[in-house]
Amino acid sequence: MKITVSSIPLEGRTFELTSKTGWIREIVASALAEQNPAVEGLNGNLKISRVDKNVSLRGRLNVDLNPVCDRCLQSFVWPLCLDIHIDFSPKSGSSDNRSGQEIELTPDDLNFSFYRGLEIDVGEVIREQLILALPIRFICAEECHGLCPQCGADLNLGKCGCVA
Ligand SMILES: [Zn+2]
Ligand SMILES: [Zn+2]
Repeated sequence: MKITVSSIPLEGRTFELTSKTGWIREIVASALAEQNPAVEGLNGNLKISRVDKNVSLRGRLNVDLNPVCDRCLQSFVWPLCLDIHIDFSPKSGSSDNRSGQEIELTPDDLNFSFYRGLEIDVGEVIREQLILALPIRFICAEECHGLCPQCGADLNLGKCGCVA
């Protein structure tokens, strides 16, 4: 979802995000592509506002995921709550380079971003933050015992009798 900066009204613009919001569903699906847990619910809101060419994006996205545990293969609920708080500045040529120095951006600087041209790709920014918020593997509980490598029994339900 791209937003033309000049079209953002002074009072800002608010978006409700629901499971019927097509673009956010696509963004969530794309961020989840690798592990592909089921999405049970989605809601949130976004507010985009600006002062001159500096744009701020604030909001929250709640996604209820229903992944399969990587250890025990049981599905479980994994609520993802993403706080969105990003400020954008235009990335322009030397004319805007008041201090004479480029601002160094580190990978940690999640709350700040540049945009080029006249638009901000809000969807892409949210997708990046979602990917960062997702675990490498979904585990139902820290203490999940997983499955017995020999008989496949769910060891969370008790010992299976195999000799380790
Ligand atoms: Zn588990
Ligand atoms: Zn066993």
